[in-house]
Amino acid sequence: MPTIVQAVPIEDELHDMLAEAGDVRVVDGRDRGAFLEAVKDTDGVLLSPLVKIDQQVVDLAPNLKVVATTSVGFDAFDVPFLTANGIALCNTPGVLSAAVADLTMAFLLMLSRHLMEFEAYNRSGGWGRREPYPALANDPLGKTIGIVGFGRIGQEVARRAVFAGMKVLWYDIYDNPPSDAPPAEKRTLDELLAESDFVSVHTDLNQSSRHMIGAREIALMKPTAYLINTSRGPAVDQKALHDALVANQIAGAGLDVLEDEPPDPDEPIVKLPNVITFPHIGTATEETRYAMRALATRNVVNVVTGNHPEAIVNPEVLG
Ligand code: NAD
Repeated sequence: MPTIVQAVPIEDELHDMLAEAGDVRVVDGRDRGAFLEAVKDTDGVLLSPLVKIDQQVVDLAPNLKVVATTSVGFDAFDVPFLTANGIALCNTPGVLSAAVADLTMAFLLMLSRHLMEFEAYNRSGGWGRREPYPALANDPLGKTIGIVGFGRIGQEVARRAVFAGMKVLWYDIYDNPPSDAPPAEKRTLDELLAESDFVSVHTDLNQSSRHMIGAREIALMKPTAYLINTSRGPAVDQKALHDALVANQIAGAGLDVLEDEPPDPDEPIVKLPNVITFPHIGTATEETRYAMRALATRNVVNVVTGNHPEAIVNPEVLG
């Protein structure tokens, strides 16, 4: 019977799935000492990206076959290290794309329709006191959104933008989108930045995407344009963005992610009037988080029972 370490809380029925596949050790993955104790000689680990899998873990669990994270992003893991040790890394693509795309569109509407300003006006009693309205906003209809990273979430955003009557541009490091991709026009990154009214970042975080939006790129954007980032904080040079926003070089930004998470309580970009930030809530719905935990659970079960997982980052380890 294989051993599985469950290092994140999951529902009873998901725990039962693990228990049918192996002996389960439940531990709080944030407690490093307890995690290292639990991981000894285990075959699989179900975890969040906050749990580090390194040489210390591999030395304790030389038969470790699978690490299943409850996230789609896997930038917190050393993939070459896991692959070199024959460990499958499984993630949760697809089940969260709609939730992140919804949040992206929420940013787009909040920014373009000045919803924060109108809400603050009402909350402070401005309407009741018949104070002048905040400035009129702008329609997304007929505007252009440029999607940087035309993968699963980027395409899901494109579907919503097409429905909203927007023109959609995309840039990616691949050349040809899948046949079922929504209607959108390919551009170079510089062309996309110059033509878009909204630039929305959806790349995974890797060496090529780290700080891919910096001072030079922001300078190419229209002064009326908004930057939205729901991918990973380091994809955008936060200092450069801060400075551009202070100088009103672009109209504003919507950020679900920051370079340091959680940020310093005094992080200046969070306080700027032309910025809306959220505490990394792209997937923070009951339905989506459950779907992520369920897929991660199936992934670990599949690998420890000798089956192919539904999602794997490094399929080469399974042959
Ligand atoms: P995906 O792999 O389907 O899409 C990522 C796309 O980015 C790919 O098409 C890839 O080719 C492209 N890309 C990579 N590097 C690039 C570069 N330098 N320039 C242009 N394109 C580049 O992944 P996905 O499922 O769409 O998820 C995207 C990312 O969103 C995840 O990796 C994760 O970091 C982030 N995410 C954030 C939240 C949140 O809560 N805010 C939730 C889920 C995912």
